[in-house]
Amino acid sequence: DQNYCIPSGMSDDCCKFETVEKINNDLTPRLRELIKTCFFKYYKLRLYKECPFWKEYGQCVNQACAVETTDETNISEIWRSDVLGALQTAQAGTLFQPFKKCEYTDQDFCVVEDEADSEGVFVNLLDNPERFTGYAGPSASRVWKSIYEENCFNIVPHMVPANNNNFATSPTSKSQLGSILQNVVQSDAIDNEEVCLEKRVYYRLISGLHSSISIHICDEFLNKTTGQWGPNLECFVDRVGSHPERLQNVYFNYIFLLRAISKAADYLTGYEFCTGDKIQDSQVKTMVSELVNAARSCPETFDEKQMFASPGSRLLKEEFKAKFRNVSRIMDCVGCDKCRLWGKIQISGLGTALKVLFSYDDEYFNPKVNPNLLTRTEIVALFNTFNRFSESLVAIERFRRMYQESIHGN
Ligand code: FAD
Repeated sequence: DQNYCIPSGMSDDCCKFETVEKINNDLTPRLRELIKTCFFKYYKLRLYKECPFWKEYGQCVNQACAVETTDETNISEIWRSDVLGALQTAQAGTLFQPFKKCEYTDQDFCVVEDEADSEGVFVNLLDNPERFTGYAGPSASRVWKSIYEENCFNIVPHMVPANNNNFATSPTSKSQLGSILQNVVQSDAIDNEEVCLEKRVYYRLISGLHSSISIHICDEFLNKTTGQWGPNLECFVDRVGSHPERLQNVYFNYIFLLRAISKAADYLTGYEFCTGDKIQDSQVKTMVSELVNAARSCPETFDEKQMFASPGSRLLKEEFKAKFRNVSRIMDCVGCDKCRLWGKIQISGLGTALKVLFSYDDEYFNPKVNPNLLTRTEIVALFNTFNRFSESLVAIERFRRMYQESIHGN
């Protein structure tokens, strides 16, 4: 059973964990370098918007939840809101009264951050790594519950309580992890039900994102006794490793993003990466081209043309879009700044991938004809999200080694 290839008839090889990991081992060093560049490390967003769905009181007060923002004077002048705002007004003419910008266009699958928004803040992503913050309890579970139960096509099998088995004393979780990590593929509960492909893909994107967040929490975990940060195998086993479908969904998201980057390759390689520094811009362009070409040469693992292909699927696509946009709004209800920052970036990255795959045919990706197809924030979010999943796969390999050492140690 090929669980994360779409359609499921694709060649065996490209659907194996090992193949995806091999692709990733090639791409990871390039991605790590790319996200350190000026163009990709600064992200502008409305970080402090009111939760539109409920009164959110659960603000996380831990130091680890805080986000360090960057003063606009440190940012390339061309991205500053005063300059962008002035440009927009000038283009529109002196009598133009700017309306509040729409949060998204028909083609968008999520709320898109606007760099000209004076209420937005710039964040240096390298200074604010996604990791354990201690954010948990009713506020966090309300967000996840509302995403799964109200914005997921009602296909979630059930909310399984977190597995609190202690890995050190639980042979069950050890053997479960062994069979999951050593065997290539396990079947997925939702695939056995009569659920259409699009709804399964939707669920997998959300669940894969949730798994990836959990992996980063467990990979950079704070040991409160020693004060040291480091990987926590028990945390990984409980949250992800002992749930085969959660693990598979991480791989699914990875190939989904990879396919979007491949599809947009012409656009991305021809894009003008403008930071105001010509030398840096040309370096970024080369790095992106190398990465995109490496992604393009990978075996095909996802064929988006299988989705929304049947007559009458227009409505389904609109529903898919509406639900995903809602999830992007729910991110404003996350009561921890750092978690909200990465939640927003990754929903925007996945939303950009959805837009690339489902809003435009191949011929649209000509940067000369359609230079504004994607905004800077969308491109930054797309690559940073891809990097987060890439780091998740690296972490899974690390946890696999830790697991093996823990068995041999016994
Ligand atoms: P949760 O992760 O809260 O999961 C709730 C329930 O969802 C589980 O009991 C299970 O039934 C189900 N579930 C769990 N994983 C999956 C999956 N992959 N697929 C399907 N169902 C699943 N905390 C941090 O420390 N750092 C962060 O950066 C961070 N970012 C966050 C971002 C967002 C958008 C949100 C909503 C929360 C974030 N959190 C973060 C909190 C974190 O995700 C957990 O909610 C918290 O650690 C409590 O975990 P838990 O074990 O109670 O289960």
